[in-house]
Amino acid sequence: MDIHVLDALARGGFEEIVAFTDRKSGLRAFLAIHDTSVGPAFGGMRRWSYRTENEALRDVMRLSRAMTHKCVLLGLPCGGGKLVLLDDPEMDPAGAYRYIGEVVERMGGRYYTGPDVGTGAEELGWASERTRFVTQPGEEGPGLLAEATAEGVFMGISAALCQVDGEEDWTQRRIVVQGLGSVGSRLAQRLAGVGAQVVGVDVDPERAEQISKELDIEIVDASTEYDQACDVFAPCALGGILHDLSIPRLRCRIVAGGANNILTKPIHGDLLHERGILYAPDFVINGGALVRGATFHLEGRREPVKAIGERIGLSLKLILQSATAAERPPARFAFDEAERLIEARREKMEGGDS
Ligand code: NAD
Repeated sequence: MDIHVLDALARGGFEEIVAFTDRKSGLRAFLAIHDTSVGPAFGGMRRWSYRTENEALRDVMRLSRAMTHKCVLLGLPCGGGKLVLLDDPEMDPAGAYRYIGEVVERMGGRYYTGPDVGTGAEELGWASERTRFVTQPGEEGPGLLAEATAEGVFMGISAALCQVDGEEDWTQRRIVVQGLGSVGSRLAQRLAGVGAQVVGVDVDPERAEQISKELDIEIVDASTEYDQACDVFAPCALGGILHDLSIPRLRCRIVAGGANNILTKPIHGDLLHERGILYAPDFVINGGALVRGATFHLEGRREPVKAIGERIGLSLKLILQSATAAERPPARFAFDEAERLIEARREKMEGGDS
């Protein structure tokens, strides 16, 4: 189905979408700025083999809006943006990321970019040759963002366990971590460190074996993770994994992980709720990297990972408590609360201008 871009922008409260190409490198990309009402937009660069332009457009819009939701729910003075590159074997990645650096630089600090799926240290290095407004890899930048994300997810799981059982009781917990990459492996390590029984899964068998050896954790075959009896299912791979087919298979009491957009559609948050499974909204629990990046760029300091974890844990606790009190699924509650806060701060800024 085609997207009517201007209608979609207006409906979702977006500021702008930029589509751009670079003939030399073969780059094709979309950049979405969702909100800069109180500060710059933050959001990384996703490089992905999208099947169609529409799919890429939908993704950049969904992701950038989710970034604004993270900002308002975590009380950060900034908004959401996102950039997606339509991956292609013919594309010259170094040239493409340098070109993106030029585009981002021309925005003059209205948008700060950083890592995401398909964009790591090497790609950030190429972009940073051409712009100041990017997460620098290495010592000059805010540090390993995945560490902050993993600590936030860990503290979020703690908040979710306390919400359901009144205590963490780590040594009695079985926790399944889907995806043992930058975030998932660190989360697995943190959980194993407090004595939880961790079960890991990754579609890359070599990666799974390596992490299993390093952390001494059990590994199960990819796609059997949904059927595992456990306390917490922690998706830390890609989004869109919870849907009509996977949700009935779940044998957990809590879903809380680092992946973005875990629910395929909002209705899937309702389905979890109906099944009595507590869902920790992804745009609250995985905000650690955003807190670290935003405080680094806006305030010039590296917020300690422990403090970030505590901030995420507290924000999630408040959301879960309020959603429970309102007898609403947490994902719906958090989404509406974020939209309310965005509207309030936009109105305040507009009022201040007049
Ligand atoms: P990553 O690429 O380092 O790791 C992802 C891992 O998941 C890889 O090992 C991959 O093999 C595995 N994987 C992919 N599909 C899978 C599947 N279906 N089943 C099992 N394993 C699968 O990525 P990352 O940086 O760890 O990010 C993971 C998720 O967290 C993404 O959704 C990302 O958008 C989100 N996220 C990451 C950060 C961060 O700081 N890195 C911040 C916020 C959100």
